[in-house]
Amino acid sequence: MDCIFCKIAAGIIPSKKAYEDDKVLAFYDLDPQAPVHILIIPKEHIESAAEINADNSAIIAHIFEAAAKIAKDLNLEKGFRIVTNCGEEGGQTVKHLHFHLLAGRMLAWPPG
Ligand code: 5GP
Ligand code: ZN
Repeated sequence: MDCIFCKIAAGIIPSKKAYEDDKVLAFYDLDPQAPVHILIIPKEHIESAAEINADNSAIIAHIFEAAAKIAKDLNLEKGFRIVTNCGEEGGQTVKHLHFHLLAGRMLAWPPG
């Protein structure tokens, strides 16, 4: 297993968990870009958003259900942003699909 997020999902690399179920793990980013910065990942290894297809797309709905639960748990009623970076120009550094959930400050738009 050569993927850090697969290792985090398996508990081999420790993380600070925000949410977990049988399909999804959410944990706090090591290098937070906002007061709340959580990564939501499928436990199954999918490289990026570019690999989503009719066979695996149900996990995306599940991830967004998890995101809404986390937002409620953390009282993010003022708002939050969910973003996934895909590929080199998208700024993806870890090649295991993940959604950044950012909150706790006014977020700039458009992103840089
Ligand atoms: P990307 O740049 O691929 O969109 O996001 C990868 C994110 O993973 C970065 O925000 C980075 O700080 C975070 N990250 C990388 N390695 C680890 C790790 O071992 N543990 C945690 N909690 N976050 C990590
Ligand atoms: Zn992986």
